[in-house]
Amino acid sequence: MVRLFCYDWKISTTGFKLNMGYKITRRSFLISLPSLLTTLSLLAVLLTSCQPAAVTADPGTIMTSAVETAFAEINIPTDTPIPTETPIPTATVPRTPPALPPAFTTTVLNPLDAPHAYIQDSCQYLKAKWDPNNAAPGTIVIVVMFHGINKGAAEDANDVTVTDFKKIMESLKELGFEAINATQLADFLDSNARIPERSVVLTYDDRHTAEAYEHFRPYYEQWGWPVINGWISAFGGEDQFLQENVTLSKEGWVDYQAHGVIHNINIGPNSTDEFIYSELQGSIANLQKYFGKTPVAYIWPGGGFTPRGVQVAREVGYRVGFTVNPRGPIMFNWIPLSDAPDAGRPAWIAEGPANDPRLTLPRYWPMQMLSQLDTIRVMGKDAAAYAEQNKATELEYYDIVCAPTLGPISSAP
Ligand SMILES: [Zn+2]
Repeated sequence: MVRLFCYDWKISTTGFKLNMGYKITRRSFLISLPSLLTTLSLLAVLLTSCQPAAVTADPGTIMTSAVETAFAEINIPTDTPIPTETPIPTATVPRTPPALPPAFTTTVLNPLDAPHAYIQDSCQYLKAKWDPNNAAPGTIVIVVMFHGINKGAAEDANDVTVTDFKKIMESLKELGFEAINATQLADFLDSNARIPERSVVLTYDDRHTAEAYEHFRPYYEQWGWPVINGWISAFGGEDQFLQENVTLSKEGWVDYQAHGVIHNINIGPNSTDEFIYSELQGSIANLQKYFGKTPVAYIWPGGGFTPRGVQVAREVGYRVGFTVNPRGPIMFNWIPLSDAPDAGRPAWIAEGPANDPRLTLPRYWPMQMLSQLDTIRVMGKDAAAYAEQNKATELEYYDIVCAPTLGPISSAP
């Protein structure tokens, strides 16, 4: 294209070539070859009517140049075929998938409590992770275990006072946490089902009177928060607290789950299969019979579990299990656990050998959780930022490797 110094006016040599005329484009009219000389005269008029632009040039020189260009174009033999575009070969070039980034890590956890993945298929994981209908990446869950909530001073190191209990609940809410039940947790861990971005699982182990749950009731009534009870099935239908607990369960916010039958004898390396099955299956049978529900969670009594115990728990249908090892918070496909016993924390059974992280979930003691609450909140934010940073790479990997078999990730929530 020949661009004249008066910026509004252009001569298109492309137009010229095709039409054997040339185009003055401001008003898009065409001038045919026979009127070329008339047009050149018009050009001269136009050039003289142009106001001097930033670049000063001799209009005569421009005119000569424009005319030479025009004639050079005219001299192209008219029977020269216009080159047709050669189609770009459509054969697909294999795309190389990018390397997937490593899992999120944090220096906040004890280095021995390494986050473990439990979904080995990267495609299944990525599909669940980036589905906008699911939980947002960085969604974090803490599990806390309450035992006694005492009106006076805490009688046991594991108990909390009513004052501390209220402080814990209010701090959770202030930092944006919401409570979820056992099925919500299992759905989140299994398939990244949507839960609040900061979630807490409140567990309250052992047999209690219905009255003991009055501590939790205000939070259910104000905020809709459920609490999980680890129910001991030792007394079956003879349990003196059974009826009031069954009545309470019908209100829907106390989520009764399994906590063994004998309970006081923990599952350990010497446990027989008979004992393991009776504890795990006996709890299911009892809750089905008296509470009309099938538990999804097993709260290991005394925190005792073994690889065999975990294997049986999975076999009989439990989807999540809780230890008493407060290793950290949990996220989708991200559960901190230890592969080996640790001399510094001898009471904490290593979960690694059981090789089923969802059945050996960490739990915090209440005051310990309170002291780490803000750190955990920040950990979730960091995990979300890390996921966002890797999103394009992970989606590209999915597109190349996974989409052909699993289909696209759904795009709209
Ligand atoms: Zn217990």
